[in-house]
Amino acid sequence: MSRPSNFPPPFSPSDYVAEPSDPADERIEVGILIVGAGPAGLACAIRLGQLLEEHPETAEALGDVPVAVLEKGKQPGSHLLSGAVVNPRALHRLFGDRFRLDELPSYGPVTGESVYVLTRRSALPIPPPPPMRNHGNWIFSLSQLGRFLAERAEESGAMILPETAAQKLLVSHGRVAGVRTGDKGRNREGGELGNFEAGSDLVAKVTVLAEGTQGHLTGVALDRFGLSGEEPQVWELAVKEVWKVAKPLDRIVHTMGWPLRGGKRYREFGGSFIYPMGDDMVTIGLVVGLDYRDASLSVHDLLQELKTHPKIRRILAGGERVEWGAKTIPSGGFHALPERLHAPGLLLCGDGVGMVNVPRLKGIHYAIESGRLAAEAAFRALQRGESPASSLASYDEAVRDSFIWSDLHEVRNMRQVFGHGFFVGGALASAMTMSKGKVEVGKLPAEPDADQPLLLTDRDRSYPAPDGKLTFDKLSSVFASGNKTRDDQPNHIRIERRVAPEVAELWAHMCPAQVYEVGAEDDDGTVIVDVAPSNCVQCGAITAKGGRLTPPEGGSGPEYTVT
Ligand SMILES: Cc1cc2nc3c(=O)[nH]c(=O)nc-3n(C[C@H](O)[C@H](O)[C@H](O)COP(=O)(O)OP(=O)(O)OC[C@H]3O[C@@H](n4cnc5c(N)ncnc54)[C@H](O)[C@@H]3O)c2cc1C
Ligand code: SF4
Repeated sequence: MSRPSNFPPPFSPSDYVAEPSDPADERIEVGILIVGAGPAGLACAIRLGQLLEEHPETAEALGDVPVAVLEKGKQPGSHLLSGAVVNPRALHRLFGDRFRLDELPSYGPVTGESVYVLTRRSALPIPPPPPMRNHGNWIFSLSQLGRFLAERAEESGAMILPETAAQKLLVSHGRVAGVRTGDKGRNREGGELGNFEAGSDLVAKVTVLAEGTQGHLTGVALDRFGLSGEEPQVWELAVKEVWKVAKPLDRIVHTMGWPLRGGKRYREFGGSFIYPMGDDMVTIGLVVGLDYRDASLSVHDLLQELKTHPKIRRILAGGERVEWGAKTIPSGGFHALPERLHAPGLLLCGDGVGMVNVPRLKGIHYAIESGRLAAEAAFRALQRGESPASSLASYDEAVRDSFIWSDLHEVRNMRQVFGHGFFVGGALASAMTMSKGKVEVGKLPAEPDADQPLLLTDRDRSYPAPDGKLTFDKLSSVFASGNKTRDDQPNHIRIERRVAPEVAELWAHMCPAQVYEVGAEDDDGTVIVDVAPSNCVQCGAITAKGGRLTPPEGGSGPEYTVT
């Protein structure tokens, strides 16, 4: 049986590690460099701003740009996509009495919740299992929250550089010295166009990688410094839509079961979320573990199918889709966390290192808390008389002493038990949750998503035809993401182009943005995969399933506003 991992991509992490190459006087020097304007990176910038305000002498010693944040999206928030029901504890710790929650751009606290087990036509309500209880949590759009946090970071002195992708990790004498940003203005073959702009070396005293899921340089750094955890990371793919609706939804809704299949042979783990965003909008999304085996599975099309369920159709009736997006979620949990979260000159935060509580579908408060703790360690490393190495190591200790560590430990095997199928997995997961992690099922091994042997069914025949009102095809969805990637830039997706037919089918069905097409079969039984990289919304699924996403030219990709 074919596996995607039988066809490794033409990608070597060492190609993305370099010494600084710009002449010393042309390098851009900053104090602390943060890669990624998500909740982790922005919380880091905000906390650094607070600390530097209290210690102006340290700020002064850091030069003209004490804190810089690189963001590959068009602006902060453009690449942020989430549920986003947020546990507010990390926001409280970050802002203290500087802001009240109701001063943040939210849709208010969760006012009620329902959980349903779906079959094709029915919806059986069940009491919300403990991980799905959201009393006390607040509803946001992460894209909007990102813009708010970015404004706060700028107010506190950080320089945010949007449309700037960190391409290479600069390492000098075994220490991370910063990053090299990507070139702009190259054509498909790599030649220079009239508006060509070469990337730059940005050098810093400490570099914080807060790149989120499938972080490009985070992966490179884990490899370069040998930091990977005991178990391989695994991911889920989430596809979501935001709808303007005629009737307000008065509660958050989660569903399990249909349209996913319960049989162990399919390994289909996941569920949906439907969250109100004020009185006139809802967000609806479907999350599916990328260890699934059926090459004809398409999360994009399963979400379209889910919307045809009578229960869900009613919520959306008379409404209109206003935005669409897709992203992966790291789901390996506790045992997949890196062995260390630091290396010389480097700190790693948030989704990039897998700080997500999968049964609760929560990562934003861990991202914010880890960003805050990274800021404190980076700040300590700048102090006279402190050893930079032990200051950065103190970040690991701080994370281990924090709620990030205890929460993730409590649900440490939650994702892996669903490899036993929906019902056995569900029973084990409930036992573990009820006992707050004390029920010990032993450390369950995880297999990389790309190692799962594939099967090919005709599941795709039952996806609903797009009607342009309730159900949509992939290209309309890419349009609804605001994606404006330049067509003629170099291909940023690394895959083996000649693969087994099931692997080609897997990629073509899996990609929510219709990037891959299965070409004709050759005499040796393999097929060529055609690639349309400008459709890519940078969800990261291809990296989990046998290829490798690298950042395209800065400013490419979706332009999310309310996801
Ligand atoms: C559909 C979905 C639903 C979710 N629901 C919830 C929920 O309800 N509640 C919750 O708490 N969590 C939820 N999560 C998880 C949560 O969104 C993440 O845990 C959180 O966003 C992680 O924050 P981060 O800052 O680590 O990464 P991100 O939010 O991914 O931000 C990373 C940023 O870095 C930028 N970046 C990456 N690489 C580079 C580079 N090389 N150069 C420049 N910029 C770069 C990206 O463009 C992005 O803006 C959900 C996730 C998904 C996908
Ligand atoms: S090509 Fe882009 S959109 Fe498609 S699966 Fe890969 S990362 Fe996601």
